[in-house]
Amino acid sequence: MKEFDRGFIEPLKKEGVLVIYTGGTIGSMPKDTADKESPQVVVSCQKFRDICKDEYNLSDIGFNIDWYSTEPLDSCNVGIKEWKEIAKAIDKYYKYYEGFVVLHGTDTMVYTATALSFMFDNLSKPVIITGAQRAFMFNLRNDGWQNFITSLYLANPTYSKIPKISEVCIYFDKKVFRGNRTRKNQATDDDAYYSPNFSSLGRIGDEYKINKHLIRKPQHSEFRVLDSFEENVISLNFFPGIQDGDIIERILEDSSLRGVVLMAYGAGNLPTKPMKVLNLISDAINRRNVVFLVVTQCGGGDVLLGMYDTSAKLIDLGISSGYDITPEAALVKVMHLLGQYKEHIKKDKKFVKLVATELQKNLKGEQSVSIFTTPLKPYGDLKLDVSNKILMYEPTKIDGVENDSEYEKIVLRFKGAAINTEKEFIDLKIFVNYSSDKIDVESDFYLGAFKKSNIGLNNSSEPTVLFFDITKKAYSQLERTPSFKIFLDSPGSISWIDTELTIFRKEI
Ligand code: ASP
Repeated sequence: MKEFDRGFIEPLKKEGVLVIYTGGTIGSMPKDTADKESPQVVVSCQKFRDICKDEYNLSDIGFNIDWYSTEPLDSCNVGIKEWKEIAKAIDKYYKYYEGFVVLHGTDTMVYTATALSFMFDNLSKPVIITGAQRAFMFNLRNDGWQNFITSLYLANPTYSKIPKISEVCIYFDKKVFRGNRTRKNQATDDDAYYSPNFSSLGRIGDEYKINKHLIRKPQHSEFRVLDSFEENVISLNFFPGIQDGDIIERILEDSSLRGVVLMAYGAGNLPTKPMKVLNLISDAINRRNVVFLVVTQCGGGDVLLGMYDTSAKLIDLGISSGYDITPEAALVKVMHLLGQYKEHIKKDKKFVKLVATELQKNLKGEQSVSIFTTPLKPYGDLKLDVSNKILMYEPTKIDGVENDSEYEKIVLRFKGAAINTEKEFIDLKIFVNYSSDKIDVESDFYLGAFKKSNIGLNNSSEPTVLFFDITKKAYSQLERTPSFKIFLDSPGSISWIDTELTIFRKEI
């Protein structure tokens, strides 16, 4: 019988589930079949399929399974070429199948799942990626067979009656994860994956329990595949000492570099003493149009730029915040978005800005919040002092406001701010859509009083970004085109360079 190495394994019945075989442990056997200790190698799809049918009675499953094979690989060798090939195979026969199962090595499964999630627009069918820590073809005690069979059921909800999940998922060790939320945290045990900032989509044990409220709504527009990626990106893991060496300079000054994921400490903090790191980043942005996305290198949690001075400076540089995206999804998102504008980005700053803006938005469920920033235009100079105590902004349509949305946070930011006062602090009072020139703290349009102490000017600290958290009160006003008014209600003065309104919109 002919061994098929690549492509669709005919005859295709074009119904049920299409399995895309890429290799990995699930498709591995010892090189020397007589010696179980010999290194495992990936078998051909044909052989894998025959073993499933002849030795494991796969045909009893109750529905048809068709097969497609990429070059069978250890997933360490998977790259953009394979992502495109998998996507193309799904695209080609999308309409015929209930769903798709991708058999894949565990090492880079998260990257492939994430890449597919960004590549697929308007996905309305399940795409389930699975693999094994121990292969079933030569191990009686294994996880691979159950992972495979349950994935087939998940991919065929019409047959299995498991609620349909029209997303790119990873199914492993009884749990269904959203692929782009997942990380590999176990090199050997069965529970290879976890989803740090987002609950799993379900659990399939004796019974199945799918968290329906977490599933993204299936899209009904035409399915399409966006398959461009930029590979000249890097993720930079910060560690004490990186600021003292020369390597960081070499990396950030490389002319082929297009995008960087900054794996920062804690809530998004970078070394600021010396300023070398920030200067190198600023140079890369301004002179070479490099795009930066900051994520946390911790196992979970989110980036909150401005919580510390060591991250506030990133806002001034215009660096995008990944909020609670995983480092793996951040890297693939940078590759994906840069890929969409590959031709233009080197030459035109406009596209750098566009990618930086898109990076902060949730595209395919990869982050819990989308961040939108709208610049506000003042009537007059950005300066308040004893002679000029009121500043008003033009009414502005706020980016990212949608009906029925919930906002985690609404913040006014003054960038490059300097305060000068003899007292301990100045007192600023903020109103929205407020016509009066008198302070009335009982008014419905009053957003709050903010006390801010000396910075910049006569003080030794540099101008910095100031935050005004107006979440509680501004919420209902966002549906309109708000105009903000700031009153200086104390002696002293304040000046700043730019004002922006940042909203953190909750997403599924
Ligand atoms: N090296 C293997 C791979 O990723 C590991 C596995 O599949 O578990 O292909």
